[in-house]
Amino acid sequence: MPNTTSIISSKDIPSQYRQTPIAKLLEYHNFEKPLDEINKPELLIGTCIDNRIQLRIPGKFAFVVRAGGANMKYNEFKISYAIALGNIQHMALIGHNQCGMSNLIQRKDQFIQGLVKNAGWSIQQAEKQFNNESPESEIGNEVAFILKETKRLQKLYPKIMIAPMMYLVEDNMLYLISY
Ligand SMILES: [Zn+2]
Repeated sequence: MPNTTSIISSKDIPSQYRQTPIAKLLEYHNFEKPLDEINKPELLIGTCIDNRIQLRIPGKFAFVVRAGGANMKYNEFKISYAIALGNIQHMALIGHNQCGMSNLIQRKDQFIQGLVKNAGWSIQQAEKQFNNESPESEIGNEVAFILKETKRLQKLYPKIMIAPMMYLVEDNMLYLISY
């Protein structure tokens, strides 16, 4: 993936993330570090709804907000809640390759036919939802989107450290996006 860094040992973790819950996430997930007993949340994770994304983290370690494409738009209240009530100071925004929210138009027919077959919707109802709502869900290039979304959230929450990452579905590893 372009503009991403493999994290296969602790020396690959950039210095600004060392000793933070962001480094811990990479250690648990990529290095298979033994899962600690955790009593209070340390990290906020924003990621996609995709079933292939399975993170290896200890129980109680993180708040997780999942939305298509890791698009956090309309989830700001939940993010603010985790920051305010969970005393969260670090966030990992995790996109992934082969994301279904990229190039939605390619799946328009499948979307409509699937809703008709599985949900009992009319073709018109399904088509209307696709036409009205797909533009806001479309993320375009996955890496570029995560970077853009990180910058937007960083501006909104200036004291929170936000790390943009990608999850590669072929190897189930987390990669840092350089910016
Ligand atoms: Zn996705």
